[in-house]
Order: sequence, then C-alpha cells, then structure tokens
Amino acid sequence: MPADSTTKSAYETFLSAACERLGYSKTITSLLTLAAMEIKVEIPIIRDNGELAIYSGYRVQHQSARGPCKGGLRYHPQVDLDEVRGLASLMTMKTALVNIPLGGGKGGISCDPKTFSPRELEVLTRKFVKRIHREIGPNSDIMAPDMGTNAQVMGWIHSEYSAIYGHSPAAVTGKPLSLGGSVGRETATGDGIGIVVREYARHHNLTLDGMTAVIQGFGNVGINAARALERLGVRVIAISDSRSAVYRPEGLDLETLVQRKRERGSLAEVSGHKEIEAAALLETECDLLIPAALENAITEKNAGRVFARAVIEAANGPLTCEADSILRERGIDVVPDILANAGGVIVSYFEWVQNLQREVWPAERVNSELDRIIGDAARGVFLHSREKGLDLRSAAFDIAVARVKEALDATGF
Ligand code: GLU
Repeated sequence: MPADSTTKSAYETFLSAACERLGYSKTITSLLTLAAMEIKVEIPIIRDNGELAIYSGYRVQHQSARGPCKGGLRYHPQVDLDEVRGLASLMTMKTALVNIPLGGGKGGISCDPKTFSPRELEVLTRKFVKRIHREIGPNSDIMAPDMGTNAQVMGWIHSEYSAIYGHSPAAVTGKPLSLGGSVGRETATGDGIGIVVREYARHHNLTLDGMTAVIQGFGNVGINAARALERLGVRVIAISDSRSAVYRPEGLDLETLVQRKRERGSLAEVSGHKEIEAAALLETECDLLIPAALENAITEKNAGRVFARAVIEAANGPLTCEADSILRERGIDVVPDILANAGGVIVSYFEWVQNLQREVWPAERVNSELDRIIGDAARGVFLHSREKGLDLRSAAFDIAVARVKEALDATGF
C-alpha cells in the first residue's frame, strides 16, 4: 500500500475538496484537518505468563465546536497515532452529518486483544483510564466500543472513571445495560445500515426484495448489518471473517454461521456453504457490497474488480482515495462511512442523553429516533447529491463541513 493511502490522507483529500467547493480559506481547511488535542500514553501490564509488556495507547480529540468529542476506542495491532487521527476526524464529520450535538474523537491501544485473557484486558483498560481520565468525561470526550472492544470494556471504563469522579455513566457509552447502557446500542450500527440502504433504494426507486449483498466482516457490524438487510428482503450471499469466507447463492444461513463461529471460532464447514478466497469475496457479483472490517479493504488493486451497484461503507475508511476515484469513474455508488455506519454513534448519543437525564428509553423510542435521525441524514445526502451533481461522499462532506464551520463561526472568531 502506498505510504499516503491512509484514512488520514483520504480524509484530508475529501476535506480539502469540500472546503474548496464551499469557498473556505486555507486556514479553515487546516483547522478542520488538525486535531485539537492528541494524547499518547504507555501502558505497562504484567501478562498472565508473569512477563512485563508495554502497550501504546492513544486518544485524539479532533473537534469539539458542536459538542464534546465522541468516538470509539479500538484495540488492534494496527493502531497507531495516524490511524487514530484519521478515524477521529471522520467522527467529527459523522456527528455533524447526522446533526447530533457532539464533536469527534477516537482512541486506541496497539495490541492484539485476541491473545489477551479477560484479566489482562481489564488491567490494560483500567490503566489506560488512569492515564487519561483528566482529559475525558461527559462534557469533554466520551468513549464507546470500536474494533476489539465491547460493552464489557466500556463497563471497566465506567467503573474506573466513576471510582475517581463519582457515578458518571455519561462518561462512556456502549456500556452493559445494567450500568446504564442503552437498549439497541449493540445492534445500532447494523440497524442504521439497514435504514440507509432502505433510503438509498427509495431514492433510486429500487426494490430491495431479492437484491443481493456481500459482506466483508463478521463482527458486531457485519452480523447486524446482515440481519438488518435480511429483514428488508435482501439476500446476503457471501460473508467473511478475518480467516475465511463463505458463499451461498440462494442466501446464507446466517444464524447457523453465527452459532458455528461462536462454537468453533470459524465459518468453515457449514453444510451448503462454499468456502471461497477472502480476495474473491470482494469481487463477487452483487447489488450491495458492504465492507464491514478494517480500513483500506478496497484499493486501486481490486477496485476494478468490484461488481456491485453500490458499495456501502459499514467500516470506517474501507476505501483508499484511489479506490474511491476508480469506483466513481466506473459509475458505482459509494455510500460513505460517515453516513452508512452512523447508527452506532447516534444510539451512543441517546445513551448519553438518557444517562444525563437519568432516563431509560424503551426500544420503540430508540428505534424510531434512530430511524428519524439517520433517515433524515440519508435523505439529505441523496437529495444534495442529486441537486448539485455530486457523488455521495462529496455531498455528505459538504453538508458536514458546512455544519462544523457554522459552529466555529458562531463560537466567535
Ligand atoms: N466506534 C463507532 C464509530 O466509529 C461508534 C462511536 C460511538 O458510539 O461513539 O462510529
């Protein structure tokens, strides 16, 4: 991969183009490029084998003009400052695009959580909070799950933070329900993808019933996106995890795959499902191709072999800049990450509001508010794209960038 093919450099390209279209100065472009604060800490822990190991942890607060910084915490070996910077800036655009009163941030620890015991993960998480607690909180920076983290990790963050500041559930979202988590947060990103796809189909007068989808990624987002699409009548014909990929043209037996993965840690050997190469998955002919794993899944190397009507970016930054241009030239729609996967942060926002108000919302309220907020954002992007003759990512960036700029102006400089 070329050195500049990072989420951060892609963000900078998309941002500069938006600022140019909107007629903003170079200074404003720089302000929206640079992060307001970047934290790096070293976290030493004793592993279960008795050895001392040190892990680097990061938290980047990109923008808070529209509200406290908001974004996930990722545990993955690939995490570094540049990756976290890129992901933090995408969060600023995501919260602005869906118009919730939050800014953008992201964190991560460079480690392989699959090799950690629950005790090791807990120690790592608590130590990270001990290092950065002064910089986070309900009014400044609110963490949430991302790749390699889950509700349990958020529960440890809540417990560590509350031990210092008193009971503070609004300091972190994506918590277990018993600690003030919101109903619907676990499935929110996948549910949001379903709503965005529904709006995409409406906008283009397409019938979803019988359409086909291929999904890269079998984590929380991939599985719940598959479920949401199945509810819409879409046939999910292929899916992959980090090790294997399976294909079944008449539609996957999703729940059997989920069970098999839980029991054996693999998608292999489920009857009626053909194992295919991970690379072949992205090249499978389908209506909707949904990368729901890491960044840079589609690059200039494989973008020419994508045979889908639309790519729905369930992951953050799954396309390099070059891949984005190739797909655009080939007339393949790309529904950008800052819209497609915003369901997670929207329900995080509901969780934060519930915690601040000491309220507990029922599922119906969470679901209908999620539908309203992400549905409005999707309709806004599709309309703006049609009116201005812009691709979907450019339309989304223009709306988001203008909202952040408006808040910056209103703060008064
Ligand atoms: N990690 C998720 C994202 O990238 C959710 C962030 C949140 O809920 O704050 O959007």
